[in-house]
Amino acid sequence: MGGAARLSFSTITITILPRMSKPVFGTCHLCGSHGKLSFEHVPPKAAFNHRRILHAAFEQVLAAENLDKLRGTFQQRGAGAYTLCEKCNNDTGSWYSGAYADWAHQAMCVVISTGGRRLYCIRTICFPSGC
Ligand SMILES: [Zn+2]
Repeated sequence: MGGAARLSFSTITITILPRMSKPVFGTCHLCGSHGKLSFEHVPPKAAFNHRRILHAAFEQVLAAENLDKLRGTFQQRGAGAYTLCEKCNNDTGSWYSGAYADWAHQAMCVVISTGGRRLYCIRTICFPSGC
C-alpha cells in the first residue's frame, strides 16, 4: 500500500490516504468544521465502488499505451477520500447515493444489454431494450 496522494483543484486540496487505523482529522469540505473526517466513497460504494482500485495520475492514464501495465497506488476500499465529517458524509449519502446508485445500475444494465452497441433513444423509449 502506498502513501498519501494529493489532488489540487485551484483552491481545493484533497488528500487521499490509504486505509488507516488512525483517525484522520481535518476540515470538512462541506460544513467547514474541524474534526475527525470520514472516508467518503466517490462515487458511492453502492455504485460499483466497493472493490480495490488503482489510483494513478490522470496524465499517466491518458499517456498509457497499455492500461494493464499502469502504475499507481492501490486503494483497497474503492475510490474516495477523507473529505467530510461523519455527519455530512451520512447526510449526503442519504440524500444522493441511493439515486446515484440506481442510475449507475440502470446504466450498467443498458451497457450489458446492448453489448456495447450504440443505443438509440426516441423520447423515453430506448432500443435495444432488455432490462
Ligand atoms: Zn461536515
